[in-house]
Amino acid sequence: MEEDMFCYIHEGGQLVKCVGGSVQYQGGRSESMVVSRHMSHSDFVSKLCDALHFDQNSIKLEFTVKFEPSCLLPLHDDAALLKMYDSECKGASMASIGSDISPSSKAGVRSMYYNRVSLSYVTSNPSLGEDKPSFFSIRAYISFIKPDQTMWYRACKTCNKKVTDAIGFGYWCEGCQKNDDECSLRYIMVVKDSDASGEAWLSLFNEQAERIFVCSADELNKLKSQEGEENLFQQKLKEAIWVPHLFRISVAQHEYTNEKRQKITARAVVPVDYAAESRLLLEEISKMKTSQ
Ligand SMILES: [Zn+2]
Repeated sequence: MEEDMFCYIHEGGQLVKCVGGSVQYQGGRSESMVVSRHMSHSDFVSKLCDALHFDQNSIKLEFTVKFEPSCLLPLHDDAALLKMYDSECKGASMASIGSDISPSSKAGVRSMYYNRVSLSYVTSNPSLGEDKPSFFSIRAYISFIKPDQTMWYRACKTCNKKVTDAIGFGYWCEGCQKNDDECSLRYIMVVKDSDASGEAWLSLFNEQAERIFVCSADELNKLKSQEGEENLFQQKLKEAIWVPHLFRISVAQHEYTNEKRQKITARAVVPVDYAAESRLLLEEISKMKTSQ
């Protein structure tokens, strides 16, 4: 079963019923976030507020379910969060694959499979993500990991922000305004991603890289520092490539020395679910039939 859920979060607009009965969220702004099944309501709220810069005390969360997209349900506790998760994820993959689920209010949800494209579709459309990031899903392999790149940063154990060497001893966190004896490493790196259509550089953050390497940045760093007969660090990198993954990606434009460049970032990584892949393929085939 899928452990992660991709959510759209809408703020400032309203749900509007359209001709034909579909429901759309209009106005305001939309953001995205990945929610884990095991997340508590308070973790969910603080992750959401951190990511979107909301004040925890001033938000009221509601969610919609697929079968009744015009109805808003209160998202106020752990039970409601689980309800949101289950209504979207339990046996729902057929309905959600490739279908256009109406955007919903506050914490709406879309499946990992929504907007499946090939890598070449992304790389051959340089205007994607011009105004705001676009989101897609791709099925791809990591084909190359540059071994000599910086793969992590030293992070504050409390807030995950970057720390610097403190005067004397330990680490200084600007965010927390305090010194700590210890810090932890968090991944931030790029890898080359490939599918049958082409390849592209993909940025990974800690959560996604941990899934790909199946070990933490601290552990990988330890392996790197152990030089021996068998190089376990190189081995870990080797094991991470040519494994199929389903990626949820964001595509945005970044200005780099006065030149606009496409930046592709992994927002979620899950193993390939072959049953769901087959259903997606069948759906594509039936679309071809009806368009003929
Ligand atoms: Zn901190």
